[in-house]
Amino acid sequence: MTERRAPAPGDHDLPAPPAMDLGRTAIFLDLDGVLAPIAARPGDVGPDPARRAVLVRLLAATEGRVAVVSGRALTDLDRILEGVVTAIGAVHGLVRRAADGTVFSPPAPTGMAAAIGAISLFAEGRAGLLVEPKGVAVALHFRGAPELAGACQELADRLAARLDLQIQRGDHVVELRGPGPDKGAALRAFMDEPPFHGYAPVFMGDDLTDEAGFRAAQDFGGQAVIVGARRPTVATHALPDVAAALAWLGDSTARKG
Ligand SMILES: [Mg+2]
Repeated sequence: MTERRAPAPGDHDLPAPPAMDLGRTAIFLDLDGVLAPIAARPGDVGPDPARRAVLVRLLAATEGRVAVVSGRALTDLDRILEGVVTAIGAVHGLVRRAADGTVFSPPAPTGMAAAIGAISLFAEGRAGLLVEPKGVAVALHFRGAPELAGACQELADRLAARLDLQIQRGDHVVELRGPGPDKGAALRAFMDEPPFHGYAPVFMGDDLTDEAGFRAAQDFGGQAVIVGARRPTVATHALPDVAAALAWLGDSTARKG
């Protein structure tokens, strides 16, 4: 856990984050690309003992000030994290479970069933596409067929306009969702509540949807750490990959003792 990787070529413009003072920090973590390597299909990501151990130690060292803020559905995050983390922002912040277990979720937008139907039909005859319905949103993944990126984006644009939905773009994925909180709003909501209130946030993420979280963390005087080489970003610090992210998080608990 103490080994540090050399920065990748794309990281030279941002410094590595300084050591965290866990006694003063509230930690907000994206999952895919931060705590788990990006998988070919979202369902390929599962529980991991090393990740779980880091999260358990962080939760203990911060008296519970750890939230996971991800694009995945809440049930999927509980599956992957084995229920270790209670405070979760799911579906990019649209669904939120507070540290006391209260779940906030908007109703599914009116056009969602039609969107899921149209996207499923589109994906059916095209190998490599994957539809991920999340109740209040639907994701169309094209990591397995990157040549269809343009067609997927066009379909999403058309459906968003026709069904009055919003578009959320990401790394080899496009999503349709209704109006509501983003990852930044989720961070702000957590920061209004115990055990997060009054502490300095650190937000770690890797994708476009994390930029709102990066901004919100800095609004609270905290830090924003991008994992990977994606640019441009409003993040203040960078780590090259998931292994470096887990090592940095693990080191912070080792230092605390
Ligand atoms: Mg991510």
